[in-house]
Amino acid sequence: MKIRINQDELKCEQCGAPLTEDDVYVRVINGEKHYFCCSHCADKFEARLK
Ligand SMILES: [Zn+2]
Repeated sequence: MKIRINQDELKCEQCGAPLTEDDVYVRVINGEKHYFCCSHCADKFEARLK
């Protein structure tokens, strides 16, 4: 699925690595979309919220 995201938000919310539209991992957490470089960062970010 192609995703359009704000260029200013193109970094991993867990590790801060720069992302591109073609290489971004999106996970919906608590009803909000969060952007990561990989599923591992998404897992860490989600675990931190619990
Ligand atoms: Zn990351």
